[in-house]
Amino acid sequence: MMLDRLRRIIQEVGHARDLHQALTIIVERVQEAMQVDVCSVYLVDDTRSRYVLMATRGLNPDAVGKVSLPLGQGLVSLVGERAEPVNLEDAPTHPRFRFIAETGEQPYHAFLGVPIIHHRKVLGVLIAQQRATRRFDDEEIAFLLTIGAQLAGAIAHAEVVGGMAALVGGKSSVAMDGLPGSPGVAIGTALVIYPPADLDAVPDRGVDDIDAEIAAFREAIALAQADIRELQQRIAIALSSEDQAIFDAYVQMLGSASIIDQVIAQIQRGSWASGALRDTIAAHVHVFENMDDPYMRQRADDVRDLGRRILMCLQKGRDRPPPYHDQTILVGEEITATMLAEVPVGKLVGVVSARGSTSSHVAILARALGVPAVVGVQDLPVTRIDGREIIADGYSGRIYVSPSDGIRQEYQRLLREEAELNAGLSELSNLPAETPDGIRIPLYANTGLLSDITPARRSGAEGVGLYRTEFPFMIRERFPTEDEQFLIYRRVMQEFSPRPVVLRTLDVGGDKSLPYFPIKEENPFLGWRGIRITLDHPEIFSVQLRAMMRASQGMGRARLLLPMVSNIPEIDESKRLIRKAYEELIEEGVAIEPPLIGVMVEVPSLVYQIESVASRVDFISVGTNDLTQYLLAVDRNNSNVAALYDSLSPAVIRAVKAVIDGAQALHCPVSVCGEMAGNPKAALVLLGLGVNSLSMSSSSLPRVKWMIRSFPVARARRIAEDVLALEDSQSVHAYLAEMLIEAGLGGLVRAGRH
Ligand code: PEP
Ligand code: MG
Repeated sequence: MMLDRLRRIIQEVGHARDLHQALTIIVERVQEAMQVDVCSVYLVDDTRSRYVLMATRGLNPDAVGKVSLPLGQGLVSLVGERAEPVNLEDAPTHPRFRFIAETGEQPYHAFLGVPIIHHRKVLGVLIAQQRATRRFDDEEIAFLLTIGAQLAGAIAHAEVVGGMAALVGGKSSVAMDGLPGSPGVAIGTALVIYPPADLDAVPDRGVDDIDAEIAAFREAIALAQADIRELQQRIAIALSSEDQAIFDAYVQMLGSASIIDQVIAQIQRGSWASGALRDTIAAHVHVFENMDDPYMRQRADDVRDLGRRILMCLQKGRDRPPPYHDQTILVGEEITATMLAEVPVGKLVGVVSARGSTSSHVAILARALGVPAVVGVQDLPVTRIDGREIIADGYSGRIYVSPSDGIRQEYQRLLREEAELNAGLSELSNLPAETPDGIRIPLYANTGLLSDITPARRSGAEGVGLYRTEFPFMIRERFPTEDEQFLIYRRVMQEFSPRPVVLRTLDVGGDKSLPYFPIKEENPFLGWRGIRITLDHPEIFSVQLRAMMRASQGMGRARLLLPMVSNIPEIDESKRLIRKAYEELIEEGVAIEPPLIGVMVEVPSLVYQIESVASRVDFISVGTNDLTQYLLAVDRNNSNVAALYDSLSPAVIRAVKAVIDGAQALHCPVSVCGEMAGNPKAALVLLGLGVNSLSMSSSSLPRVKWMIRSFPVARARRIAEDVLALEDSQSVHAYLAEMLIEAGLGGLVRAGRH
């Protein structure tokens, strides 16, 4: 019963248009559910350091927005300070009680306040009051506490959306915080990219030709009706006539004047059909969800499904590319490799996504392309910002929507400075990555998209340290053939020859899935991924191994790298399959040399067996992106825990040291190919720990080269020793920033946040 109430309140709030509506729903529903005389919400106004009454049921409604209390005074503040429920039998007798005449609260005695906390920050306080003198019971406390906790996210989101709504009329800019995804600053126009047939993802967009839009909508309805009739006929044999009735209901709903008329009315007000459909369906879903009859409530799913079908039909008719702006900033709930690849060359200046974190693949891709990115902007109102001017600060992880002139000027200045720094760095591209005391640390590029080969070469990379083979697999509708793969690998190798190219075998699973090979798992990062899949599917593995080795013909030994290895038998079995593929090729008369075999150390278990690994392979490459997530138990894509994800945490640094020491004792060279290698601060530590080479996004390469050319190894070693004595990542960052500044490399500190 309680759960049902909670669920419905939360659902209703989820649909609120703005903060005001959300809060009004909360106080009304809570007052009804708890049968109390008063329910109110106070929110913290940071700029004024006060709690402001934002909504009430029971107190004087005129006091909303007017009555406020300074932080530190009154019972409301007390709840916030304690950050836990305050339950009082007789509030007026409490020493912190403050009487405020405007609210008319004198007759209330019983008081229960719970904090509303989002990401450790108290946003406000939710309060229930009653005339009687009594203590609230445990169940009431739990109910209010649950509402407060569940709604904190919705309130934080509504605050941002509310800010956005204010923007439509006014000129003020809205800033939102996410995470730095790829360094650099972008100023451009938002282009919202959304997954097809997902109504919630449809952005607001205007339309010029209203009649054409209405015609397209009517056509989509007709198409959807035909689709459903066909579906009905196809499964008629398998369904009872009762079950078939659902299809009749669908067709009826499709013809219903209420849906069609509402959509058309909204198009006539200037919205495009998809946006109008989104709102109309949401309104209908809302009505059904609030019905008392559980059967009727479930019809909400049917309406949603119907909406999706109409949307699909609408989209069928417009399979043309979205209107890319000259300075496009791609914005989306989630941005995929294909979405990025589709933007015409030269038009993409930035990427902003609601999901993801610093080391998720969207960030890696953006870095590969040298495009600034902000990811994990959790409160990003994706559907509301299409076409707006945006500044994406990929250093701090902040975005500005419709920035003020002052902010824009500031960022334009920063862009000019960046251009100067980059011009200076490009002079380094032909100089070797050598320390002042003469130690060469080859810098390689991480690649994977065909289009990023050229920038990788121009950046002065001495080869490819990590070629991620997933992308050619992701953009097809089936596994690529041996010849298709051969051509791709051959092209990369030719492009870099005689410099080395390390080809990594397929690493799907985790957050990278193939449309034609879906894997549904509760815990994909701990599941069927990388070498675990390819060993289970030797037919897929051997095709790839053959293509890789064939591609190396005439260009020295192929370098094969195995991802996601977590035990020694996996190495032995992979080596057996590699040898088998090699021998077959030799038998077929392909003139190749035996391949060099490397293993990625990205699962902590290998750190503790590093000697066994090193004795079996030709080289080791530390994948710090995954090593960090597995060592710290922090999902690399989860923005809720992104603050905990840090490759410069002491535990990760020690693990990397153990790998370098253990492998080098057996003369096995160690490279680092995770994003850590491209961070000048982290690369300084790796240099001091004795790494043999580094592989990174080509856009990071010039900065790391500058660092290497500035620090003698002896000095880097001392710095690494100092770092190993530090106990938390914040101190590590601070110390390394100081070292860079001291060496005159202050310009690299900003990039070092990654
Ligand atoms: C890593 O895990 O550090 C790595 C380089 O591989 P990926 O980012 O592709 O998982
Ligand atoms: Mg990895």
